[in-house]
Amino acid sequence: MHDEAGKESEEIFEFNQICSEGCIMDRKVKSAWGSSTLYRHRMNGYKILLTHKELLEIIEKTTHCIYCGLELDWKAPRKVNVFPSLDRIDNEKVLRKDNVQIVCRRCNVTKRDRTHAEFLEYCNLVVNNNKANIIIGGE
Ligand SMILES: [Zn+2]
Repeated sequence: MHDEAGKESEEIFEFNQICSEGCIMDRKVKSAWGSSTLYRHRMNGYKILLTHKELLEIIEKTTHCIYCGLELDWKAPRKVNVFPSLDRIDNEKVLRKDNVQIVCRRCNVTKRDRTHAEFLEYCNLVVNNNKANIIIGGE
């Protein structure tokens, strides 16, 4: 029988197995992000059908924000715009491996309660309404 903490350290160990010595620190930071993200969602009343291991697999595949394309900074302070943030694609109060993705904090704050599709529709609306003022590739 495993308790919660034992189960999690086992998963962290497995996660480290597929990593070279040089990136173990990064893995620990990402693993801690996964743990605290699941914990905060649980505390906020979300139904958690996503395991720490499944979240680590998503973390491992995600280097850049799905929306804006900026590189995520896992070691940045929480309030920094490119700090990773767990986004629910359908915005249900449930976390499942097929309804979450990792985006930057700024995009998630801007998206708020919109679904993935609604947010993209909103972004298109903003771009189309400001076409005359947008300089492609500019700052
Ligand atoms: Zn973003």
